[in-house]
Amino acid sequence: MPELAEVEYYRKRWNPGLQQTVEKVHVNPRARIFRDTSAIGIQRKLKGTQFVNSFAHGKRMMFQFSCGHWLGLHLGMTGKLHTAPQEDYKREKHDHLVLDLEDTRLIFTDPRMFGKLSLDITGDETPPAWWQELPPQTTDSEFTKKYFETFLRRFPKTPLKTLLLDQRGFPGIGNWMADEICWQLKIAPDTRSGEIPDSRLPDIWKIIRKVSRDAIRVIGTDWKKPPNSWLFNHRWKNGGHCPNCNDPLYRADLRGRTTCWCPGCQS
Ligand SMILES: [Zn+2]
Repeated sequence: MPELAEVEYYRKRWNPGLQQTVEKVHVNPRARIFRDTSAIGIQRKLKGTQFVNSFAHGKRMMFQFSCGHWLGLHLGMTGKLHTAPQEDYKREKHDHLVLDLEDTRLIFTDPRMFGKLSLDITGDETPPAWWQELPPQTTDSEFTKKYFETFLRRFPKTPLKTLLLDQRGFPGIGNWMADEICWQLKIAPDTRSGEIPDSRLPDIWKIIRKVSRDAIRVIGTDWKKPPNSWLFNHRWKNGGHCPNCNDPLYRADLRGRTTCWCPGCQS
């Protein structure tokens, strides 16, 4: 599932259409992605507006169109954003939303349809309330040490790795980032957060911010492969070795999510 860096990468795929007017909207009304706002409603209301800006927040995206039209988008498991030239484009089976602009097309493709689209009309420059109420992202200045510590201490029985996946506290952090954070901290992923001493918390806060920033820089910019010094390149299948100590990595289920760690470094 796309995490914050992949979301940031996809958000920018629609940039070629900025400042252009939506001339035509194609929708697939039967696609499950329109479960919050009807496909026909989106089709009618976006036509004639101008695409003015876009934002990412954790695993969510927001596309701003003129006159306060806000298209919210969640990629789900398999959603992708891309563009196509006006000529030579043939609509594919899984292209559920296609916006024809003046000289490009913006496309949302989603084979498994766990993604989601919604349209809010506020009529002005203010995004809808639900967007404004999202918790701070790990890279935001509002994600302070104190904010983080307060959140973590609310869930003393939850393993650190599991807690890092909680979108109420760490929007945009998914499975590989949570494993990377625990590994860089040299903390076993199943360590209950209540067992972590206060003295380690500033370090955890720092590494969460560092991994988030690094992920956006490396993957979010042009989907570059992270360096081999990260756990990332070694974690995907059995037989990987720890880039720090070269011991074999372990993979097991932790509260329903495949977790990879180095027992030598993380105890
Ligand atoms: Zn190791």
